[in-house]
Amino acid sequence: MSTTRYIFVTGGVTSSLGKGIISASLAKLLQSRGFSVTIQKLDPYLNVDPGTLNPYEHGECFVTDDGAETDLDLGHYERFLNVPTSQANNVTTGSIYKSVIEKERRGDFLGKTVQIIPHITDEIKRRIKILGNKYKYDFVITEIGGTVGDIESLPYIETVRQLKWELGQNALVIHLTLVPYLSASGELKTKPTQHSVKLLLEAGVQPDILVLRTERELTEDIRAKVALFCNVNIGNVIQSIDVCTIYEVPIKMQEEELDKRVLEKFGMPVEKNPELIAWKEFLSKYKNPERTVDVALVGKYVELQDAYKSIAESFIHAGAVNNCKVNLHWIHSENITRKNYEELLKPMKGVLVAPGFGHRGMEGKILAVKYARENNVPFFGVCLGMQCAVIEFARNVLGFEKANSSEMDEKTPYPVIDIMEEQKNVLEKGGTMRLGAYPCRIDKKSNAYKAYGETLIEERHRHRYEFNDKYFDDFKNAGMVPVGINPETNLVEIVEIPSHKWFVGVQFHPEYRSTVVKPHPLFVSFVKAVLE
Ligand code: GLN
Repeated sequence: MSTTRYIFVTGGVTSSLGKGIISASLAKLLQSRGFSVTIQKLDPYLNVDPGTLNPYEHGECFVTDDGAETDLDLGHYERFLNVPTSQANNVTTGSIYKSVIEKERRGDFLGKTVQIIPHITDEIKRRIKILGNKYKYDFVITEIGGTVGDIESLPYIETVRQLKWELGQNALVIHLTLVPYLSASGELKTKPTQHSVKLLLEAGVQPDILVLRTERELTEDIRAKVALFCNVNIGNVIQSIDVCTIYEVPIKMQEEELDKRVLEKFGMPVEKNPELIAWKEFLSKYKNPERTVDVALVGKYVELQDAYKSIAESFIHAGAVNNCKVNLHWIHSENITRKNYEELLKPMKGVLVAPGFGHRGMEGKILAVKYARENNVPFFGVCLGMQCAVIEFARNVLGFEKANSSEMDEKTPYPVIDIMEEQKNVLEKGGTMRLGAYPCRIDKKSNAYKAYGETLIEERHRHRYEFNDKYFDDFKNAGMVPVGINPETNLVEIVEIPSHKWFVGVQFHPEYRSTVVKPHPLFVSFVKAVLE
């Protein structure tokens, strides 16, 4: 198919309705019909990318193979579609303005007054169409962040208006809203939906399909009412009822025929429903685990579970293949002390120390490593978690008193984790870490090799500090072995303790690559070790 069709997903009434999951579910259904699909997120904030955002503000920062720091919704897109996203899949207002202003400074606008319309909207259009023009997807689904009516998302909505006009039959808009249930009157209410569609109409955008989030089944009357007030066919009023897992949503959307309505709108043939066999198999395993295991997730952003989204999802995928449910215990590293760490971690069958930045909570993380190492409890250290494992080993096995990462203590006598050479002169914070996919060569005598079954792998990174090569032999001789090395730069990417049941620390982020149909081998292997 040569034409790219563009689908815009907007949201009304409130945030957190799950536009990302609806977009990913629709994409999944179209993909299972044999189409190539990608999903893009337009974020209305002024940060150039979310890399500089505190995880408390915006949840996890997801990283793509090509090194973009992106919104966590891109993680959902990849987990659902099993297709990598790229720089082009996440656009922020900051990045749009940045490129327009750079063009202005170069004189590219030839003396014109630079304005939101058309200059900003043209740049937004260019970023949307890149995915069709350059990558030739059959469908580009563009999720507009924020809620209709926000000042911040106006230029995006205006762009949707223009593109709908330009692309005609090849563009459509899905608007996601909420139908709240008022328990006092025992009724579902459609007024907020009517109002949010009015807001869209004021901006010149007529939605083609409405997806209504609801706690209770919508009656035919409710659907008819919404259809009447919002100028859509009753068949295009789709119910999205609350479900116990996001992975159920594609199945629900198939029952509601969201994909069929989309194909019909585009005037495309609608063949019978794809089976979604692998997906359903995963769902059934996930929902009917044979057993449950307790694993500690030690980090400092545990109050906001979105901060470790991809790790939590990776455990869902890895649990399902192992026929179990991983019961994650989110433990705040600041609450772990010398006094309580043994008691706190005793019920845990495995310990994962999470990624992070800054010294807060470091000592608790190091104690968690100590517990796992000394008690032969399966341990998985991810990025900062691996660095904590190295520091713990240096202090407690090698006897390097006050060993640390130079990130936490610039004056440490043993900087076993140190700033990378190329990072030393970097002053700007945004987009300057070691980012994206890098190769790693794995020792055949390692748990990592057993998991991957390959000696050359590639994983995504996001960090400034690394294992300090100077201490390579000290660690190796004392029993913590660097088993994964970057073949180009010699950086240590994986450490293991071979005498331990399962003790693996990785400098990269395996969680970014775990998907429903391809759970990450290290998470699968860790869970297996936990179960044994
Ligand atoms: N703060 C550490 C570094 O920059 C680890 C980063 C991370 O865990 N993503 O190297």
